[in-house]
Amino acid sequence: MCVCSKYVTDNNNHHTLQGKIMDLTAEILLLNNKPDLADYLRQYLSLEFSKVDCLHESRQAIGPLARGEYKLLVLSNHLNDMEGLEFVRLLRKEAISIPFVMIAGDSDIRQAVEVMKEGAVEFLQWSDDTDAFFPYVAEVLRRALYLHSKLQLVSESELLYKTLFENIRDAVFVHFVDDKTRQPTTFIEVNQVACRRLGYSREEFASMTPFDIDVPGSVDMKAVMEDLCLNGSVIFSTFHATKNRQHIPVEINSRLFDLKGQKAILSVARNITDQQKALDELKNSELRFRSIIEKCIVGICITDEKGFFEYVNDEYCRIYSYTSEEMLGKHAQMIVAGEHKQMMADLHDEFILTGKMIKNEWHVVDKYGSSKIAVADAARVTDVDGRYRKITFVQDVTEERQFKEALELSEVKYRTMMESLQDPVYISDRNYNIIFTNKAYQKRFGKVKEGARCYNEVFGEKHPCSWCKATIEGKTTVRKRMEKTINKRDYEVTTVPIQFEDVYMAKMTILRDVTKTVKARRRAEESDKLKSAFLANVSHEIRTPLNAVLGFSSLLKDEDITRDETLMYVDMINESSAHLMHVMDNIIEFSFIDSGLVKVEPVLIDTDGLLKDIGEEAVRMQTKMNKNNLKIAFHNRLPDELSLVCDQVRVRQVLLNLVSNALKFTEIGGVTVTIFQSQNKWVVFSVKDSGIGIPKEKQEVIFRRFRQVDEGQTRMFGGNGLGLALSKHLALMMGGYIKLESVPGKGSEFQLFLPENFDQSLTRVPFMGYIK
Ligand code: ADP
Repeated sequence: MCVCSKYVTDNNNHHTLQGKIMDLTAEILLLNNKPDLADYLRQYLSLEFSKVDCLHESRQAIGPLARGEYKLLVLSNHLNDMEGLEFVRLLRKEAISIPFVMIAGDSDIRQAVEVMKEGAVEFLQWSDDTDAFFPYVAEVLRRALYLHSKLQLVSESELLYKTLFENIRDAVFVHFVDDKTRQPTTFIEVNQVACRRLGYSREEFASMTPFDIDVPGSVDMKAVMEDLCLNGSVIFSTFHATKNRQHIPVEINSRLFDLKGQKAILSVARNITDQQKALDELKNSELRFRSIIEKCIVGICITDEKGFFEYVNDEYCRIYSYTSEEMLGKHAQMIVAGEHKQMMADLHDEFILTGKMIKNEWHVVDKYGSSKIAVADAARVTDVDGRYRKITFVQDVTEERQFKEALELSEVKYRTMMESLQDPVYISDRNYNIIFTNKAYQKRFGKVKEGARCYNEVFGEKHPCSWCKATIEGKTTVRKRMEKTINKRDYEVTTVPIQFEDVYMAKMTILRDVTKTVKARRRAEESDKLKSAFLANVSHEIRTPLNAVLGFSSLLKDEDITRDETLMYVDMINESSAHLMHVMDNIIEFSFIDSGLVKVEPVLIDTDGLLKDIGEEAVRMQTKMNKNNLKIAFHNRLPDELSLVCDQVRVRQVLLNLVSNALKFTEIGGVTVTIFQSQNKWVVFSVKDSGIGIPKEKQEVIFRRFRQVDEGQTRMFGGNGLGLALSKHLALMMGGYIKLESVPGKGSEFQLFLPENFDQSLTRVPFMGYIK
């Protein structure tokens, strides 16, 4: 035992190292017919190995050995029930494979040979010098275990290779090389994948060479073989043909090796159909994208991290008028205007750093220095080598911007024109909604309500007119002009359809205020009628006295008439002639005024003298009119110091006219003529009567030519409707005016206002013609 202890100490490290490396801790079974010796050995070996059991009956050992519980069998040449060699043969028979070491107590060399022939690892002769023998046994067992484990590894790796060979997803082919021709010979081995993929059995492959599976022309086999023989290995792509003539793209890795002293080739063929497909797809996709990018209507360029052009498409070249050769390799600053270069460089650096860029408009320059406006966006991409690239997308918007500017300018121009128009203008859309009104419109009609329809908003109608409908439907394109009364004013309404490329878009309506013109036209029409009335009047006024002259003058021829009768006829003729003369005078007076021949001739007027003169005339008129019952009074209330400078003849003419009318239209009461100074420093001549008066609505029209309160009265009171019109004109010419206040049935007061001192600048030229 002490020997054993010593051994343990001496060999501890060695044992542990070996055990770990070679897995020598495996189980050992000692089968021996001498229990004492066997147990002694077991004890010793237990120190060396992890599990050492000892059995004496061979029958007991069969079971554990069959279950593989031991890795090494150490048995004596004689067992209790049979010979050791016999037991080994029994194990063989039972297909129990285990390495064994035999220890013989009494043996000869013949037995040793027998045992070794049966496959023993070692044959030992027992020695009683256990101190020497046991370590020797232990060493033998260690070696036996080592050999066993190695053998196991070899068989395991063979299995491994076999498994690999069969289960690899690539087809594997092995064939020899003819030394002389350097050509491949028939296959000596192929794996299942090769059979499955190409559709041949192993037996069929045995009579085939690589030429039978290569698609002719897909690879230069001679060059491949030369390369292989020279370098020992080669990788190449080719097509394999299957039994049913399908072509499979493969990548082959062939290696030259020595097999039983002969050159052999192991080829691993990888099916690259998917890879090829992906590659083809990639190629196609690249082709597609390249052609898209090349022909893209957007300019595209790729620049490197520093901003040098690596790629430019056709449109990019077109925008800047360069060829791609002129751009590639150059810095992108070549298309930036001088003042923007620094900013562009800063933005480029920032973009490369952050990958962020805001789509923006840039002022750029082309090859010929023309400035352009480009809208640019960019994307940052990373190369396989990790470097950044900038892809810039550019659109030339120069023309668009110029067009927009021109459009805006034109819009501003037209808007300004519309705004500055004096006439109200509005634009309405297809739905009759008013979408624009100019200032004149807003001033005249106020702001348009949201959603207001033109026909309702402007004209107060419930429905659009048929013209508008027809225009919207494209049935007519002619403009419409009409007259409409809006808010008591007359408008000439012109509506123009606005079309774009023959399609109705909106309509513009111009409202021209023609109230004055319409009034004038109406007056002219009225005037026409008046002229006819005048002619009838004048002809009556002329004919009546002329008839009297003719009638009474023919009566004078009669010799039987008395002296009194003769005088009466002569008076009648005289009176009629005077009346005729008055009519003629008035007409001539007007024609003078109209022709501008009447001039104001200012003089210092003696108002008292003037009143006296008028008074005398008034009395004559009174007598003539047989109206002596009427009282006529004259008052001069002008301050003494006041001196009136005016045309005395014209003032007298106006006053006589007013007095004549006052007498003519007054039956009871009288007429009062007063001169006074108004608060506003006017000199006023008032002619006031207690006559029939003038209705309010006629008080303006009687100052127009040929207008009388009632045409019927003409017959009763005589006259031609020219006196007041003439008076008004003369007053205006003298820088003054006539004011009328009258109450029908009570009387009238006509006041002639004259400036104290006639001033040519105050003269107002009366309107020529028949309107006023
Ligand atoms: P004429 O008296 O010759 O008809 P006028 O122009 O002098 O023409 O007068 C126009 C009309 O005005 C008269 O016809 C008359 O109807 C009215 N009228 C003028 N003066 C008076 C008055 N004092 N009172 C009433 N009606 C008057």
